[in-house]
Amino acid sequence: MQPQQGNLFVVAAPSGAGKSSLVKALLEVDARLKLSISHTTRAPRGQEVHGREYYFVSDAEFDRMVAEGAFLEWAQVHGHRYGTSRLGIEARMAAGEDVVLEIDYQGALQIRRQFPAAVLIFILPPSWDELRARLQRRGEDSADTIELRLHNAAREMAHVDHFDFVIINDIFERALFDLKAITHAQRLRVAAQRRAHPQIFAALGLSDTAI
Ligand code: GDP
Ligand code: ADP
Ligand code: 5GP
Repeated sequence: MQPQQGNLFVVAAPSGAGKSSLVKALLEVDARLKLSISHTTRAPRGQEVHGREYYFVSDAEFDRMVAEGAFLEWAQVHGHRYGTSRLGIEARMAAGEDVVLEIDYQGALQIRRQFPAAVLIFILPPSWDELRARLQRRGEDSADTIELRLHNAAREMAHVDHFDFVIINDIFERALFDLKAITHAQRLRVAAQRRAHPQIFAALGLSDTAI
């Protein structure tokens, strides 16, 4: 177990459910939230930039990082490896910053074991037809890759009950509202409010020891 000051939000979803679009929109309106950039062994897609969407690394480099214990978690997803590097996350959380991880369900469950206070959010598509349509519309993956991702989606979605919250991404703005509501509520927890407003609690005679 790790000491945790900031909030840790973990967002998982089957490929194409809209996870990246939702997290990106959330980051644009929430300056206190920092996105963790994962390392991956998959090749960059058309518009992806090293250090922005991912750190794209070779298998050998990924092996080296695993051996060094550089990852908080890592998993094999759709035939490639993805991992969250320890560097940065632990320091940010200790400094009281909020961090969001966009990772698969296997990684989410590994994070939960290390950070029991992490908030696990699962994004569902409104239907299978819509999930397929979004993967096709995104136009970034080959037909084979899309079929693999749809095939894996059923297995991924079967883990929804291990999560704290579910958002159905049908109408995008509605789903974004739901995501904001979760992050907002988490910041209103008593422990978070104590960290954010120590002077107010102290002035009201509500020091920790008064509990
Ligand atoms: P997308 O799901 O279609 O956006 O495809 P990506 O290639 O961006 O992500 C592939 C899978 O890897 C998804 O399930 C991600 O959630 C997962 N993933 C991304 N980063 C991480 C990470 O740092 N750790 C883990 N465990 N999974 C990750
Ligand atoms: P993920 O990160 O879960 O793989 P993306 O964020 O890349 O998914 O979204 C997949 C595709 O679906 C993108 O083309 C995105 O613009 C589109 N999309 C996301 N949310 C919605 C929505 N609510 N309605 C329609 N299209 C959406
Ligand atoms: P994509 O290749 O489409 O970018 O991502 C495929 C899947 O890998 C997504 O479900 C994504 O969330 C997941 N993924 C991305 N980065 C990580 C990571 O660092 N760790 C884990 N466990 N999964 C990741």
